[in-house]
Amino acid sequence: MEKTFIMIKSDGVKRGLIGEIIGRIERKGYKITKAKLFQPGRELIEEHYMEHREKPFFRELVNFILEGPVMALEVEGESAIEVMRLMIGHRDFKIAAPGTIRGDFANSLTENIIHGSDSVVSAERELNLWFN
Ligand code: ATP
Ligand code: MG
Repeated sequence: MEKTFIMIKSDGVKRGLIGEIIGRIERKGYKITKAKLFQPGRELIEEHYMEHREKPFFRELVNFILEGPVMALEVEGESAIEVMRLMIGHRDFKIAAPGTIRGDFANSLTENIIHGSDSVVSAERELNLWFN
């Protein structure tokens, strides 16, 4: 079974969407195998978003995640990485399809509720980073 890293971002936690999101994952038949609700430090968030270090939105992104607790999840299931990305929907809330998590709940480019690993390599890196 494949494992992926999911983070309910600070806006998702603030808006009370933990139950909604975990419910969708469980109804899909996937297992939550680890879960941690906590306030990550700046270093962890910067390490997580390392690939975006040079992007103009990097500071805003890190500061936004820092605004409150996040929920880190390890999710296990058949093709979990690809399917979770589908369930999450497009990064841009204007393009995210209704029925996806971002399509149903996001209304901002930066504050888009949830993160999911985008490859086997990033899932392994991110699970190690957040749960080591
Ligand atoms: P994530 O990595 O969080 O799952 P993603 O893979 O769909 O999202 P990325 O391109 O990796 O999208 O961007 C990482 C995050 O940075 C986005 O989810 C969003 O929170 C923020 N972001 C991306 N592009 C922009 C932008 N143009 N302006 C503001 N914030 C952005
Ligand atoms: Mg990404």
